[in-house]
Amino acid sequence: MQRPFSPGRLSGAQIPRLAPGAVQTAAEAAPTAAEAVPATACPRCRGKLADPEGLGYCPRCGFCRAVEREKAQAQTAAAQKQFDSIQSQISTATAELTTLQEQIRAAKSGTNSTP
Ligand SMILES: [Zn+2]
Repeated sequence: MQRPFSPGRLSGAQIPRLAPGAVQTAAEAAPTAAEAVPATACPRCRGKLADPEGLGYCPRCGFCRAVEREKAQAQTAAAQKQFDSIQSQISTATAELTTLQEQIRAAKSGTNSTP
């Protein structure tokens, strides 16, 4: 009985050989931070986006650029709100400081003018 893959049967077969570097290992294929993601590719899994001009939805991982953009905008708005609040606090503190400086100046000139 002849085995299906006996050395004799394979001797004449052309076994394709892969050139070194033709096969990417997981480490080589892993995206690096410096690598730019194309506008039509998913930033998460690098899959092709279903609607790159519109929603930018990725059917592979469920990423949606429109949703991410909204999230980023909400974060920016929240940060802007916080910044505005801090700025108003600074202006209030500056006004108080100016008042105190004027009071000190008035107190000093008052003691100086009437010895
Ligand atoms: Zn994806």
